[in-house]
Amino acid sequence: MATRKLFFLPGDGIGPEAMAEVRKLVDVMNADHAAGFEIEEGLVGGIAYDTHGQSISETDMERAQAADAVLFGAVGGPKWDGVGYDVRPEAGLLRLRKDLELFANLRPAICYPALAGSSSLKRELVEGLDILIVRELTGGTYFGEPKEIRDLGNGQKRGIDTQVYDTYEIERISGVAFELARTRQNRVCSMEKRNVMKSGVLWNEVVTANHAAHYADVELSHMLADAGGMQLVRRPKQFDVIVTDNLFGDLLSDVAAMLTGSLGMLPSASLGAPDEKTGTRKALYEPVHGSAPDIAGKGIANPLAMIASFAMCLRYSFGMVAEAERLEAAIAATLDDGVMTADIVGEGGTAVGTGEMGDAVIARF
Ligand code: ATP
Ligand code: MG
Repeated sequence: MATRKLFFLPGDGIGPEAMAEVRKLVDVMNADHAAGFEIEEGLVGGIAYDTHGQSISETDMERAQAADAVLFGAVGGPKWDGVGYDVRPEAGLLRLRKDLELFANLRPAICYPALAGSSSLKRELVEGLDILIVRELTGGTYFGEPKEIRDLGNGQKRGIDTQVYDTYEIERISGVAFELARTRQNRVCSMEKRNVMKSGVLWNEVVTANHAAHYADVELSHMLADAGGMQLVRRPKQFDVIVTDNLFGDLLSDVAAMLTGSLGMLPSASLGAPDEKTGTRKALYEPVHGSAPDIAGKGIANPLAMIASFAMCLRYSFGMVAEAERLEAAIAATLDDGVMTADIVGEGGTAVGTGEMGDAVIARF
């Protein structure tokens, strides 16, 4: 069997604590199921900065390039808050995204039955919720030029960001959304603001043309992004896959996150383009939460977002769909049995620690 090369970048704060639970799981998969995973581990974020003076070293960048998949924990913390922008811990993540050309950010919003009541919304709105937001990650307002603060010379300044999208960028991100929809409920909703933005007009045209040319079997709808945000809160279960640009995707995926409960539950994947020869893609998997310095080192962090990120890794990097589904079912069963960490346990419940939570999932896998 071919080896499957994983590169772990646990990072700072609760990153290493959550990643340790994935390592346990990988060990079990290797031992009991001959899964053939090989793990290398590197440094990213504050710990890399302290060790190498860089938020990720060149060697670790090369190892990330050579791996089949990168698992990323979290970076940053109060210790490094003062350092200048070029050495900020987050720079390591941005470098990885850029150099691996990870243009597609996948953020599922799944509501586990055991947690439906703890959502900020009513149970009937979110129970059984399973949506996937596909956010374009390398273009748009966050990267377009010009990007500057211009001195107008009359005591006034002008802050400029530019929304830019080219045809190929919209084609490839919508292609990812259509492909993923085929493995789900076969529905895509594309969101932009074509009523006030030229990039939105182009987005709408290209998505529509790509759909007609290659994905006519998928059901496609369009929404203005503001209306989409409203619908996401009003009737979230109407959606299957949502595809949108970098800025709107940033906002909408955070809105969707709050439908489901805790930050400690939410996984994400960032994918690159398939290699023309091998068909494999570069990919990085990470929890949505950050390094949570307030609870780091206490052994109480919720590892489920990290474990669910590994389930995405099984599905998208290794085509191990059955194993991914089993792992997700094990997470749901763990919660159904009332095993929860402090961030999600309800009033009167008793919380378990990070290690016990990981063990409970592995026992049900
Ligand atoms: P970043 O800037 O890195 O995103 P942040 O301050 O925005 O960090 P997080 O680090 O994600 O946010 O944490 C916000 C709060 O949510 C934490 O202080 C913590 O209490 C809680 N939290 C986040 N992740 C988890 C988790 N996995 N388990 C338990 N609590 C968590
Ligand atoms: Mg944050």
